[in-house]
Amino acid sequence: MSTNTNRSSKKLVWVTLAVIVLGAFAIFILNPKNETSQDIQFDSHPVTEGQPTLGDANAPVSIVEFGDYKCPACKAWDESIFPQLTEDYIETGEVNYSYINTPFHGEESGLAALASESVWNQSPDDFWVFHKEIFRQQPPNQNHDDAWITPEKLIDIANEVDADINLEQLASDLMNQTYIDDVIADQEQVQAFNVSLTPSIVINGTMIEDPFDYERMKELIEEALETQ
Ligand code: CA
Repeated sequence: MSTNTNRSSKKLVWVTLAVIVLGAFAIFILNPKNETSQDIQFDSHPVTEGQPTLGDANAPVSIVEFGDYKCPACKAWDESIFPQLTEDYIETGEVNYSYINTPFHGEESGLAALASESVWNQSPDDFWVFHKEIFRQQPPNQNHDDAWITPEKLIDIANEVDADINLEQLASDLMNQTYIDDVIADQEQVQAFNVSLTPSIVINGTMIEDPFDYERMKELIEEALETQ
């Protein structure tokens, strides 16, 4: 009798577990990603005046990245999504792209942000090659807390890229925090758009839930182009 009861209760446990697992699986497969999109629509788009901007200034669609040079996901985005975006939409003149400093990872993030503002101010044509190279030299598999950005490292990067960057000016700008007001101004936009993760991507006022979902990015871009 007691054995039968044990068997019955064990069977009940397995059946219950199976129902829970199947239920969870059903919820998973019945809720495809697009139906639960958490894109956020803002009343306005970030202000891009004074920000590094790539592409046609009069392009009908503007994309802003809130990014951090010390953030591994930003490196991954810059090396995977950004080249596709550049080829498909920036080079065609349909989209322009701006980068807003979002230094979430402490002093090193702030230092790289100051360097980027310095290079943008002294030599806008050289900005993008410097920007790309900082991400490229971000060590793979780093923790956010691993130190690698120093003034010397940033000057080395500026020296290594094929660009006409004044290294003494960059060193002086880092030491004197010449462009700290620009970095602070960027933080005001970070707060205004409730940015909590990097990279955050805003397409004509809509912040995309998953910045690595390029198909969704394309949908938003095409919708924005159609309403022009
Ligand atoms: Ca800026």
